[in-house]
Amino acid sequence: MRVLVTGGAGYIGSVTTAQLLAAGFEVEILDDLSSGHRAALPPAALFHTGSLLEPATLDRVFARRFDAVVHFAAHSLVGESMTDPLKYYHNNVTGTLALIDRVAAGGADRFVFSSSAAVYGEPEISPVTEQAAVVPINPYGRTKLVMEWALADTARSAGFAAVALRYFNAAGAVGDLGEDHTPETHLIPRLLRSLLDPELTFAVFGDDYPTPDGTCIRDYIHVQDLAEAHLAALLWADAPGLTAINLGSGHGHSVSEVIAAATAATGRDIAPTTVPRRSGDPARLVASNELALQLLRWRPQRDLAEILRDAWRWHRRHPHGHS
Ligand code: UDP
Repeated sequence: MRVLVTGGAGYIGSVTTAQLLAAGFEVEILDDLSSGHRAALPPAALFHTGSLLEPATLDRVFARRFDAVVHFAAHSLVGESMTDPLKYYHNNVTGTLALIDRVAAGGADRFVFSSSAAVYGEPEISPVTEQAAVVPINPYGRTKLVMEWALADTARSAGFAAVALRYFNAAGAVGDLGEDHTPETHLIPRLLRSLLDPELTFAVFGDDYPTPDGTCIRDYIHVQDLAEAHLAALLWADAPGLTAINLGSGHGHSVSEVIAAATAATGRDIAPTTVPRRSGDPARLVASNELALQLLRWRPQRDLAEILRDAWRWHRRHPHGHS
């Protein structure tokens, strides 16, 4: 199978590419390196530098057809999406429409799309099933939902198979591939980096949520488990139209529990300060993963302790990230 991975120099994209190569797929990557890292590119994948917004780049990439496209490339900072929404609509939505257009014109048979739990906004039920209302609360989440809709409509009319994988909280590392965003907003890398660099401060964003210990609960998934889910989705996708599937564990952990797991993994004492809530953070976001189990035969194999162990190993080996 020949697979095009957009955003293959990014965090989840690079781990998935490595996994596809290990499974014997032929992989080509398209990435503009705006947030991805050259060092994360697996040498065995053919690399096209460029953006989905450039028709000439797409002409070059789609000179040959693919069996499947796995589409990660997107801006993904929630805070930035609130201050610069058009950057998100332009890159995420316009870029994805251009890619869907190529696939609909016969460029590929299958399309696996990186969606997000952000499409649910602040869900009223927990665990969240795929039937829950989709009410995103920030432009990032809205762009993901618009892309799902565009994909659903086009996959049905053009007759290709599409899967939207709604990730909960990706975390952890695999070998030399780890999490390196600028700016870094995510809990686990911020926490671990603060242990390695005294200039970086770490704080808990609110301990007055309606949860047992007052801190927010999230569903953390090891990035290797996520990569395995992409492989399963690629092999499963068959019928025309879009299927949206949650990728989560069905179990939540509070920020305090993550800090306890980080203490165990690192052997360091961690005594964070608590600051007021970050706006837009729902108290609890946990996936129902029954559909993933039923359709993809996939469930996460790695727990929070393993996530922290692998992430810590990666951050110690890469104290300045991929650079
Ligand atoms: N969080 C925190 N301190 C940080 C970063 C995150 O307390 O420096 C909290 C955040 O409020 C949320 C949880 O950790 O409750 C997970 O946040 P993250 O940004 O990793 O993922 P999100 O669920 O927001 O996508």
